[in-house]
Amino acid sequence: MEVFHLQHSLSEHYLTILRDKTTESEQFRDSARKIAILLLMEATKNLATMHKNIDTPLAKFSGKEIEQGSVAVPVLRAGLGLLDGIQSLMPNLSVGYIGVQRNEETSNPEDYYCKLPDLKNKNIFVLEPMLATGGSLSFAVSQVKDAGGNNISALCVVSAPEGIERLEKEHPDIKLYTAAIDDQLNESWYIVPGLGDMGDRLFGTI
Ligand code: URA
Repeated sequence: MEVFHLQHSLSEHYLTILRDKTTESEQFRDSARKIAILLLMEATKNLATMHKNIDTPLAKFSGKEIEQGSVAVPVLRAGLGLLDGIQSLMPNLSVGYIGVQRNEETSNPEDYYCKLPDLKNKNIFVLEPMLATGGSLSFAVSQVKDAGGNNISALCVVSAPEGIERLEKEHPDIKLYTAAIDDQLNESWYIVPGLGDMGDRLFGTI
């Protein structure tokens, strides 16, 4: 698995706002949206383009447009915090959703919601801001693959080494874009230093 650790002054700036426990929901959502755009910039750097002939007001011009359609798949619910930024930048985008929960008896991840558009020949961006144990993201990527998706990139804001390791084992063929690789998980599976519960902070449910 290729891991791209975004090194950018702007992402460090907005990540610090996300990490700060005094940041209110509105600014938190805005910063998450901006980091999503920065991650997507990196993840789409080499996306295939095709020529498009147009006329500027002054002359003919041989321009370019993105060749393939793309699909964003936020993992509910925290992944929704990255969706708006992705939608604002990415042309020809459709959106699928996956909700993952842990089965109380088996403790295996399972989906409580899964709605995916046509994934054939699409650039797929799975949005999971916090890569902690990797269980939810790995499960979501498996669902995407089962539905016919390949060419998958995962966009994560903060990743724990444990989650990266798991993803590397279970999905060596995908690409991971992350704005931070933190130290570890604590005994409650939170990323440390992290930023707390991303979903709660996005949606004001603390
Ligand atoms: N999910 C979160 O929202 N935060 C963590 O630290 C880990 C998982």
